[in-house]
Amino acid sequence: MSSAIAEKINLLGLTLPQMQALFREMGEKPFRATQLMKWIHQRGVVDFDAMTDISKALRERLQEQAEIRLPRVVQELPASDGCRKWIIEVESGSRVEAVLIPEGERGTLCISSQAGCILDCSFCATGKQGFDSNLTTAEIIGQLWWANHGGRSPSEADGKRPGRRPDRVVSNVVMMGMGEPLLNFDPVMDALDLMMEDNAYGLSKRRVTISTSGVVPAIRKLHERTDASLALSLHAPNDALRDELVPLNRKYPIREVLDAVSGYMASLPDKRMPLIEYTMMAGVNDHRQHARDLAVLLKDFPCKINLIPFNPFDQSGYRRPSASSLSNFRGILQEAGFTVTVRTTRAEDIGAACGQLVGEVDDRTRRSERYRNKAGASVSGGGSRVFTKADNLAVEVRSEHGRDPVTGP
Ligand code: SF4
Repeated sequence: MSSAIAEKINLLGLTLPQMQALFREMGEKPFRATQLMKWIHQRGVVDFDAMTDISKALRERLQEQAEIRLPRVVQELPASDGCRKWIIEVESGSRVEAVLIPEGERGTLCISSQAGCILDCSFCATGKQGFDSNLTTAEIIGQLWWANHGGRSPSEADGKRPGRRPDRVVSNVVMMGMGEPLLNFDPVMDALDLMMEDNAYGLSKRRVTISTSGVVPAIRKLHERTDASLALSLHAPNDALRDELVPLNRKYPIREVLDAVSGYMASLPDKRMPLIEYTMMAGVNDHRQHARDLAVLLKDFPCKINLIPFNPFDQSGYRRPSASSLSNFRGILQEAGFTVTVRTTRAEDIGAACGQLVGEVDDRTRRSERYRNKAGASVSGGGSRVFTKADNLAVEVRSEHGRDPVTGP
């Protein structure tokens, strides 16, 4: 990339206040910001020349100082059940994935926040890839841009028919793709602002969900930046088992995480419940006793529970639960008074089911190499695998980049 291009501001990732500040600096009226936002995010136009209600002089100034640079879609994969997956190359060179799940009138987009993930949950394909980088706001919101504009190339977008507002494809966003969103806090918060901004995507706060594995300090400050909905990836009813499945639990145990989530929910002006996500793996966390323990754990914690039958991937070492254990588990929780849903497996034929996203990560942690070597030496036969301290990058104090991957520099 030439230095001239690198110096240009990428308008794709600017929130409304940031865009207004830019126009003020340029000596322009702040309302230009709302015009630009509508062109980019609502009409899908990324060519300044096609923005007909902006004067030619201003368009020329924008060409000199700014750009609208989308992340590059490398491949778009349709699944047999109507889902679609985009493989997107980010500036670091890694590839991340976004998945659109249509269901009746709804279109739910699962968005990635990081290239890889440092947290290494034992049942997650992304975790096995290691970690490369945080995505920028433009790279996060760019996934929504692509999904809404149907994967048409920017030159095909509405620039040819300025003023036309395309049908919205995405009605709901879940930050449940690759990465732990709360470890990429500021870019994710800015992207959420854009998702809920009336002049951009205008999604309701009830339809935008951040999913976290339990980064307690970030959950505690979440209310300062957003009022989006929250999901907690719990996956176990006690610390001993969760320590194995979600290594971050060794740093932030269940009670602390639930307290932090309660605090965030209490800060919201409307009554909303968090979603507890529980990936079920045969013989690991799907016993009736696990369901009873979960009911006890959550008895004073208003929430909805979403059961996710494990979606196998190469060398995962886990198996999907049987239909009967899933039904028993659900029944016990329902009898205890919880609202329980079971996530239907979608897009499995394109490797886009929950927990299967891998992209192509330039792994700076060398974790993927260690997994490959381990797989060569022995493949576990199902059930939980034995963890070593070396596996647990999440609770190592310093990563290879010289900073704490959980609490920052
Ligand atoms: S489940 Fe989420 S937090 Fe855990 S390794 Fe996978 S992407 Fe990271």
